[in-house]
Amino acid sequence: MTKGRIRRVVIVGGGTAGWMTAAGLSRALGQSDLSITLVESDAIGTVGVGEATLPQIRDFNRLAGIDEREMMARTAATIKLGIEFCDWGEPGTRYIHPFGTYGEAIGPAPFHHYWLAEMANGNVRDFGEYSLPIVAARAGRFEPPAEEEGLGAYNYAFQFDAGLYAAYLSDVAQRSGVRRHEGRIVEVESDGETGEVAAVVMETGERIEGDLFIDCSGFRALLIEQELQTGFEDWSHWLPCNRAWAVPCATSAETAPYTRATAREAGWQWRIPLQHRVGNGHVYCDRYISDDAAAETLLANLEAEPIAEPRQLRFTTGKRRRMWSRNVVAIGLSGGFLEPLESTSIDLIQSGILNLVTLFPAGAIDEADVSEYNRLMDLEYDRIRDFLMLHYVLNARHGQRFWDDMREMELPASLAEKIDAFRQRGLTPDYQEGLFLQQSWLSVFIGQGAVPEAFDPRVTSMSASDRHARMERIHSAIAGRAGRLEPHLSFIGKYGAAYRGEGIRR
Ligand code: FAD
Repeated sequence: MTKGRIRRVVIVGGGTAGWMTAAGLSRALGQSDLSITLVESDAIGTVGVGEATLPQIRDFNRLAGIDEREMMARTAATIKLGIEFCDWGEPGTRYIHPFGTYGEAIGPAPFHHYWLAEMANGNVRDFGEYSLPIVAARAGRFEPPAEEEGLGAYNYAFQFDAGLYAAYLSDVAQRSGVRRHEGRIVEVESDGETGEVAAVVMETGERIEGDLFIDCSGFRALLIEQELQTGFEDWSHWLPCNRAWAVPCATSAETAPYTRATAREAGWQWRIPLQHRVGNGHVYCDRYISDDAAAETLLANLEAEPIAEPRQLRFTTGKRRRMWSRNVVAIGLSGGFLEPLESTSIDLIQSGILNLVTLFPAGAIDEADVSEYNRLMDLEYDRIRDFLMLHYVLNARHGQRFWDDMREMELPASLAEKIDAFRQRGLTPDYQEGLFLQQSWLSVFIGQGAVPEAFDPRVTSMSASDRHARMERIHSAIAGRAGRLEPHLSFIGKYGAAYRGEGIRR
């Protein structure tokens, strides 16, 4: 391990991961005598997708000192209140996984048990009608949430242009003192004694030395894999989708404050509405559908003319065996990839940065900190993997080979236990740590039609008519509040419109 104090950080790669890391580290650690250099190659470019985010990005914005309004304007961003899943359950079904809660406490049992009892009594209001962000999303309305918790608590995220976001962060990071170095790295030099990375060598022959290297080189994994050969844990048997076609199309009238994921024959299609265009993509498994057929499916299901040629991306689901190895930390696609069904990659980048800031070596790199970092990142990946799998496992698309196989696959024990607990008694025990908590699991369980065999007996301590009256009050309070929120587009017009006469700034 490095003997001295870390004074020179070298970030390899200038995609979303590289520039987020540069912006985050320079703000969080910028007061020290740390020098941060970022190397990127214009010729190689970035992956160029990654447009839907999670509310945790707002915490990152605060860490990096980013002004939300400026960011929205610079990245042509829209608001995201959740993800709508279409046709994952019975054909024609749709539900939204919201960034918020359902109902409120009306008795000793969790709210969803009262809803289950209502259902058993034949009162069939959709579960989503008890969630303010869902009702607001469907109505195309949004306002930043008030601080207080309680009925209708919600949060929000952004849908933005990935290229504009990296360019914006590049400005933020360089303003905080990060040095940018453009060019292609052709060689990585390691210290023969310690095995640590000592320098990267540019095409021009120039060497850039560092004490700590952050590998943000994308799927290439230039340092963590090509140099250190850390190894990859392949999760394709659990999440077999391995390719995507991506294409933007013209913007339609509906600039909805949510992302959509529609199930297709051997995968699913995303729709991410931005201010100036709509991002679309078809994620699929090449064992079940050909590349040509997958591209045709995407193009046949666009709401408007494509404005670029479709682009193919290939990936393997899984993660690096160690995200931090020797003096290299892998952040972004170099560390691993879980398909974008729940927009988790940018959040994983953010976790990588926050954990690194927390465990940043005060002196030499300490093996205990490295282990803790890897433990925290492994946990994040495991939890997200289970949650993504849940969508597939609970599908009701009978008679389609891909979907039949997904329903029947062998599950990790951690997921099998959660599904059993819900199916038996409607229980959704929270993991100790992890990104998606009870309300998220509920939205998928209920949205995809999993019905527990029994509900919490404490529900019966309230009469059926009382329960019904209270549920109806919650329902109308939420409908009323949603109706008073501002139309999404008019909110953007005031808050973070990209077009201010001279077009979008790059
Ligand atoms: P990249 O963007 O690939 O950047 C790699 C960088 O390394 C580039 O700057 C490149 O120039 C540099 N580089 C590589 N080799 C060299 C070299 N030899 N010399 C110099 N520089 C080099 N995430 C979300 O959160 N939400 C989404 O909706 C979402 N959708 C996605 C859809 C698909 C199909 C895919 C594949 C991913 C999606 N992601 C999404 C993930 C998201 O795109 C990435 O997590 C994010 O863009 C970060 O990528 P990166 O910076 O790690 O890699």
